[in-house]
Amino acid sequence: MKTFEYRTATAPADGLEAGAVFLAGGTNLVDLMKLGIATPDVLVDVNKLPLDGIDELPAGGIRVGSGVRNSDLAADRRIRAAYPVLSQALLAGASGQLRNMATTGGNLLQRTRCRYFMDATMPCNKHRPGSGCPARDGDHRNLAILGGSEACVATHPSDMAVALTALDAVIQIDGPTGARSIPVTDLYRLPGDTPEHDTTLAHGELITAVDLPALPVAARSAYRKARDRASYAFAIGSVAAALSVEDGLVSDVRLAFGAVAPKPWRATVAEAALRGQPATEERFRAAAEAELAAATPLRDNAYKIPLIRNLTAAVLTSLSGDVR
Ligand SMILES: Cc1cc2nc3c(=O)[nH]c(=O)nc-3n(C[C@H](O)[C@H](O)[C@H](O)COP(=O)(O)OP(=O)(O)OC[C@H]3O[C@@H](n4cnc5c(N)ncnc54)[C@H](O)[C@@H]3O)c2cc1C
Ligand code: SF4
Repeated sequence: MKTFEYRTATAPADGLEAGAVFLAGGTNLVDLMKLGIATPDVLVDVNKLPLDGIDELPAGGIRVGSGVRNSDLAADRRIRAAYPVLSQALLAGASGQLRNMATTGGNLLQRTRCRYFMDATMPCNKHRPGSGCPARDGDHRNLAILGGSEACVATHPSDMAVALTALDAVIQIDGPTGARSIPVTDLYRLPGDTPEHDTTLAHGELITAVDLPALPVAARSAYRKARDRASYAFAIGSVAAALSVEDGLVSDVRLAFGAVAPKPWRATVAEAALRGQPATEERFRAAAEAELAAATPLRDNAYKIPLIRNLTAAVLTSLSGDVR
């Protein structure tokens, strides 16, 4: 591992010089440093900043500090009651030990697990811009069917981010040019020709909190994750869903897909196809199909289309059963 300087942040807007990065739980960043993928000159530890609160907002909703550990957020009784999809997504990720260290901010900003990205000896446009994308012709079984480009077909690995996307969460940011907030859907960017940039954050911008809006539909919500083994594995496909049904018709629905795109995929086409329609398994399946019509699978990952269709139908059917 390359030599680096370590220091502790004293204020959210401290800013970072070139070559410096924030350190939270370290469960992703330190791995990438050991592998030679991340080579920062300075680590600025944000663990002493007062960013570990889970607080109710005056106008409704909950503010989650970026330093809140994944285990604490999953266990919070207000989160479990008002946003079960978020608690379930967190518990579906990693292991108990990792969740005890991993933070809200770090989880959102963890990097792809594409096997070429994780290997410093391989070409990869994301970790070495312009070097090529061996995944397109190589091992892409776990990679994107939506939103990818010729330059990169990586998938975003966070389970929590999929739930936050379905919940219309808002990201609070502080940095050298001041504070700002953006919807979580604007945090991530598609790769296009510049896959080295995962997000729209500028260098030195710190995520300070994530706001969960007051969202009545979220009280009936769930997360379903498919993976290659029962635990301790990233998703090969996942669905975050919230549903309300009145008189047999869908009155509100929120849907996001995970592990199918370079960012958590808000399924707006499927949502539009469901609003006001009968809450039947057949309709749920057709709505997922409508969203997935835009998919451009590669040689080995077309299986994700029926996988996501079936997960969507199963989770919405289960939620509609809860509300009848
Ligand atoms: C074996 C294993 C299995 C895993 N399985 C899963 C899984 O199934 N699902 C899943 O979702 N995750 C999984 N993870 C990933 C894990 O959840 C992440 O490593 C963790 O959430 C990262 O959080 P952290 O606080 O440790 O971030 P760090 O490693 O400290 O930081 C990650 C990145 O975020 C930046 N950063 C951190 N905090 C902030 C902030 N507040 N503002 C701006 N930048 C910031 C850092 O500079 C760094 O670039 C797994 C990890 C491992 C090692
Ligand atoms: S898919 Fe993206 S991360 Fe994976 S090898 Fe290609 S450029 Fe790199």
